[in-house]
Amino acid sequence: MPRIVMKFGGTSVADLDRIRHVAARVKRQVDAGDQVAVVVSAMAGATNQLVAWCQALSPLHDAREYDAVLATGEQVTTGLLAIALQAIGVEARSWAGWQIPLRTDDSHGAARILAIEAADLVSRMQSGQVAVVAGFQGLAPDNRIATLGRGGSDTSAVALAAAIAADRCDIYTDVDGVYTTDPRMVPRARRLEKIAYEEMLELASVGAKVLQTRSVELAMKSRVRVRVLSSFGDPDNNSQGTLLVDEDEIVEKEIVTGIAYSRDEAKVTLRHVPDRPGIATAVFGPLSAAHVNVDMIVQNISAEGTTDMTFTIGRADLPRVIDCLERERDKIGFSTLLTDRDVAKISVVGVGMRSHAGIANTMFRTLAEKSINIQVISTSEIKVSVLIAQDYTELAVRALHTAYGLDAA
Ligand code: ASP
Ligand code: MG
Repeated sequence: MPRIVMKFGGTSVADLDRIRHVAARVKRQVDAGDQVAVVVSAMAGATNQLVAWCQALSPLHDAREYDAVLATGEQVTTGLLAIALQAIGVEARSWAGWQIPLRTDDSHGAARILAIEAADLVSRMQSGQVAVVAGFQGLAPDNRIATLGRGGSDTSAVALAAAIAADRCDIYTDVDGVYTTDPRMVPRARRLEKIAYEEMLELASVGAKVLQTRSVELAMKSRVRVRVLSSFGDPDNNSQGTLLVDEDEIVEKEIVTGIAYSRDEAKVTLRHVPDRPGIATAVFGPLSAAHVNVDMIVQNISAEGTTDMTFTIGRADLPRVIDCLERERDKIGFSTLLTDRDVAKISVVGVGMRSHAGIANTMFRTLAEKSINIQVISTSEIKVSVLIAQDYTELAVRALHTAYGLDAA
């Protein structure tokens, strides 16, 4: 008997009509003879509201209470979906994270899953009961509810699929798959039938917001077959959506598979840093201690034994970074601290890059033809990223989409 995990995001359970629609979808899967676990998010907007309430009472609130509040969003949708399923004759029950239990570490607000003790849940699934599981939450060692970080119900779904050895994890969302780039920006973007885990990982981490990055990491590590598809699509069409697969399963490798952009970056430049051993750690040590994620880094030689150092960070971290660097100013010894929020990072991703030369240069030439200045460059084996002025984001993404032959016919 095939065992399937179906995950529904916030827009798919946004109101009672949509919950009924989800219930009907789940029923089809049950009628097809599958054992089904459903993982749900909170109703669209619900989690944001809960965050806002915590913030309003106290910006520096207790993370354990924040988790207690945030986890309620998913508790509502599990109960409602179980009721909707029962109402159409499908046996179902809701499961909160602690009831399974899904065990996490104690990093409240951004907890990691340690183990899922699913024996009880599995035996009920085997007896024909649909398990409706609250995404985004688990039980921490301190015996308190923990949440997994925003977007975390994707990770709940993949982790559950791995724990119960599911044949597939279907992630239902408001887009009908993974596209060559954001279809709202580029109407000629194409849906990908398959994408390699590694490509998806790079795309997710550079701003394609279809799946939480950690869920992709987990799928890759535990070899869970993940399919991303629309909850509003034709349920009879089995070739819909995008399947995450091993690289070897992709026969015709495109050189570039997808293009992502992120406008959540900020650029920091330290002018006239002394050019001597130990300087990089003097700059980045304190930032890492402050849990700041540094992304792209360049160091230029300038005049008289000094160097300019430029790097990018998440824009939300900018105030913390400025504060941190100003406090270290004497130790580091820079002359000026410059910041720029009006930047965007554009990335081209594809496993085909491993075997093809000239990919990066196509990117540089295309941007040059549009007179777009490249501020910082970084590369990995299957990715090239550049930092540009934010105003040119759309122009750059469109031009690159055409240059790499990704436009739909
Ligand atoms: N409801 C949570 C959020 O909005 C988790 C999720 O939807 O994945 O972040
Ligand atoms: Mg999501």
